[in-house]
Amino acid sequence: MTSCAEPGPGGVVVAAVRERSPAARAGLRSGDRIVAINGARLRDVIDFHFHAGLARLRLSVERGERTRRAVLRRTGPDLGLELEAPRPGDIDTCSNKCVFCFIHQLPRGMRKSLYVKDDDFRLSFLHGNYITLTDLDDAELARIEEQRLSPLYVSVHATDPDLRHRLLGQPRMRREILPVMERLAKAGIVMHAQIVLVPDWNAEQANDLLAKRMVHEPAMPPRHVRRDRTDPAHNFLQLRRGELFDQRRIVRQQRHQHRGAPTLATRGKRTVIND
Ligand code: SF4
Repeated sequence: MTSCAEPGPGGVVVAAVRERSPAARAGLRSGDRIVAINGARLRDVIDFHFHAGLARLRLSVERGERTRRAVLRRTGPDLGLELEAPRPGDIDTCSNKCVFCFIHQLPRGMRKSLYVKDDDFRLSFLHGNYITLTDLDDAELARIEEQRLSPLYVSVHATDPDLRHRLLGQPRMRREILPVMERLAKAGIVMHAQIVLVPDWNAEQANDLLAKRMVHEPAMPPRHVRRDRTDPAHNFLQLRRGELFDQRRIVRQQRHQHRGAPTLATRGKRTVIND
């Protein structure tokens, strides 16, 4: 698994700078790597966002072999700066082998990024990717709490520890999900939860979680699952339309409740800092 705490060389790479913006006046250029703000080392784009709220930002910027200083003065919320999204090598990947894994079911020969089994809380916060929480260590949990990375999107599948462990393909890391979710919830982190329904495995749990409003994302529609009778995921095909409709109605309600939650905009592969 790729370490999330210190991805690659650290810092964030400038993807683009708008003319006559604060970033342009600070002398920043596309390709620069910003490695620190006001003395705080940056691990990634979230750290940048976390430290970039002040009116005057002293940046350490790597350009080629040289490190230079730059002062970025805010004149408003927009710095005129686009930052590159994390590259595949910087992304945390899962150690699971879920019985229904959609990555495992992809046909061969597609672009490489589609096969990245990401399980990265940063991408969950930035882009709404679902994570299983199985590989998060204490330092990463503490970071989520400190930086209030909310909302997060969590693949629950089951809360029964044995059943969940089997659904996830019995990964090396075995962790109960409810204590982790409770810890994050106490810290004020909003979590959007989903289950993948595999009726012979977790349908009973799913009904229970839906009733408790703990889960509000729909299971993947049947068309996304290969029609392989030897695969447990084949049972998706048995989902009734009514069940899916009910789940989608709950999604709409929950999204309405969470309107205004913090988000960062993305353009293609780039993350745009809009704070
Ligand atoms: S968490 Fe499960 S479904 Fe997601 S990529 Fe990993 S093995 Fe596949």
